[in-house]
Amino acid sequence: MVNDKESRKIVDIIQDFARKSSLFVLAYGTGCGAIEIPPTMTSRYDAERFGIRGAATPRQADVLLITGYLATKSLKRVIRAYEQMQNPKYIIGFGSCTINGGMYWDSYNTINRLDMYMPVDVYINGCMPRPEAVIAGFAKLQKLIQAGKADGWERYQNNLEFYRKNQKKIIHNWVMPDYNW
Ligand code: SF4
Repeated sequence: MVNDKESRKIVDIIQDFARKSSLFVLAYGTGCGAIEIPPTMTSRYDAERFGIRGAATPRQADVLLITGYLATKSLKRVIRAYEQMQNPKYIIGFGSCTINGGMYWDSYNTINRLDMYMPVDVYINGCMPRPEAVIAGFAKLQKLIQAGKADGWERYQNNLEFYRKNQKKIIHNWVMPDYNW
């Protein structure tokens, strides 16, 4: 029997190696955990040595990093940013708030499970996660990319109806262009 790895073409493996080695990150600083991003990216932890660096716009980004709780008001902007990114693209949910709402789990103005609205590839748990945890989360994403298993962008396309239904429950004034991949 041919396993997953053998069945992938050599060109896919090379492309995935290049992708995981050069991750341009759009950091959406929604929650307090965003404060850990500057030390992660600057000289002390120097994430760039692992190929992780900032992107200026969604169209240049590979990874959307959502750093903590997401207000219902911000959700629309995050969806719009994600949908402008080119495929393949990845989402990292950063901090307990993205997993289950964390300390804001019953707040009236935040969502409490990011994966109901966006296709998360990797979660980094903690409140707030330290730079070591952030780098470990990126390493996990890189492993998934190399293995051809970072498939959130495909899940989003294949289950758009599910995501749209949940998104529209939160965003009542839905005036957005169609998602055109
Ligand atoms: S997980 Fe903790 S640090 Fe991160 S946004 Fe939530 S409350 Fe803030």
